[in-house]
Amino acid sequence: MSSTPRLYVTQDLAAGAAFALDDAQSNYLLRVLRLGPGGPVRVFNGRDGEWDARIGDVQGKRAQLEPEIQVRPQPDVPASAPILLFAPVKKAETDFIVEKATELGAARICPVLTERTQTRTVRLDRFSKIALEAAEQTERLDLPEVAELQPLAAALDALADGTRIIFCDERGDDTDAPWGGESGRAGPMAEVLASLAEAPVAILIGPEGGFTPEERDWLRGRGDTQPVSLGPRILRAETAAVAALSVWQALKGDWR
Ligand code: SAM
Repeated sequence: MSSTPRLYVTQDLAAGAAFALDDAQSNYLLRVLRLGPGGPVRVFNGRDGEWDARIGDVQGKRAQLEPEIQVRPQPDVPASAPILLFAPVKKAETDFIVEKATELGAARICPVLTERTQTRTVRLDRFSKIALEAAEQTERLDLPEVAELQPLAAALDALADGTRIIFCDERGDDTDAPWGGESGRAGPMAEVLASLAEAPVAILIGPEGGFTPEERDWLRGRGDTQPVSLGPRILRAETAAVAALSVWQALKGDWR
């Protein structure tokens, strides 16, 4: 991985079109990394690809940046890029989900309220900062969209027509058996995906307390939902999010 610092900027990127960095970015380059005029920086803005740039004038604490050459064109966001719908859990674990979903190529990250969601408020600015830092580190050329916290039904209704909902369902239907037993158990995710036609996808992960029986019935009763199992063990929500996104990218996404 290149040791050249990589920054997300909002400005348009074009050869020689210098622009001023904000205080935080200037501080990072000048004080943290102790770079000066001429110092190399990689920049991307989610629109114009990735550019090699150099630090230009430094006025006090503010640095100018001068894009020189485009090193990677802006790719289209792959149609296979998944949406992640997840019920927020504890703060550190929720931050982890946002960071890993960014690294794993999620196009959109949507916190949703379900019956048993413990965390009823989230900080969108915090999620955006985590996603931005993860995108810089993971060398993504775009930022995932981070949505406001909303009820599950509203989030599903907002999905584009034709989107398949991959419902990670940890339980079977046999209430007398541990974890719902085998009856009603969803199919293994890999097998379910193998039978799925190419379509936009939204992966749904529940809260620590799982989905209520009523939610499971409602989700399974929709025509656009595909229940899947992530194996015989109950995974923590953050583990399930990483596992499901990884299986998706490996079998249907951009890991192929
Ligand atoms: N504590 C819950 C319970 O009593 O069933 C388990 C919920 S689990 C911690 C959080 C979420 O991760 C689940 O709602 C589901 O979306 C996903 N998940 C965890 N393990 C899974 C599995 N083996 N198969 C499918 N989804 C799973």
